[in-house]
Amino acid sequence: MKDSQKRVNLILFGPPGSGKGTQAKMLEKKFDLLQISTGDLFRYELGNNTPLGQKARSYMDKGHLVPDEITIAMLKRKMDQHNDVVGYILDGFPRTIAQCEAFDRFLDDRGEAVNSLISLIVDDNELVTRLLERGKTSGRADDANEAVIKNRIDVYKNETSPVYEYYNNKGLSVEIPGVGKIEEIHTRLSEMITNII
Ligand code: ADP
Repeated sequence: MKDSQKRVNLILFGPPGSGKGTQAKMLEKKFDLLQISTGDLFRYELGNNTPLGQKARSYMDKGHLVPDEITIAMLKRKMDQHNDVVGYILDGFPRTIAQCEAFDRFLDDRGEAVNSLISLIVDDNELVTRLLERGKTSGRADDANEAVIKNRIDVYKNETSPVYEYYNNKGLSVEIPGVGKIEEIHTRLSEMITNII
């Protein structure tokens, strides 16, 4: 990356089951960005039974958010380990206003900022159907139980949806329909990102 080129910081946003992970992986390849999923990072720690994974487990299994302090520290470490990339596509972060503020300060220290938050719109019934279906094969405890899924959707509405407003107030939030064929949604997102970067 040339010094004159600023790194791109995109946030892929949406409720659990909206397809962030699937789409972020496709966009990572297409635009040569690094995808960072805090959910995947926690699952990695959990799988390796690290102290961080042990701390996160009780929150994740119930469908609650892991405390901001832990999440923010993990995210910063990951970005610092990979600071030679063209840009990042964040999936599952930020999820609270405190995370937004910490993230903005962190980027500001690097002379960067969030370029855009792209929100995938999917209705609740479709989300529950998708997550229960994913639960049959994902091995994720938080996908297997309808009560935990409903809890995650509530947490999204109460704690995470203000993140959309936070960046909308800065003129950075956009919405994209998240229902339809995976390829169609990918095309919509790609067109949007081509205009941004
Ligand atoms: P989902 O499919 O529900 O969007 P993720 O795979 O992104 O789930 O995350 C799974 C779980 O990991 C969340 O329910 C939460 O417990 C934890 N987690 C992931 N990202 C964050 C975050 N930014 N802040 C707090 N907890 C998080």
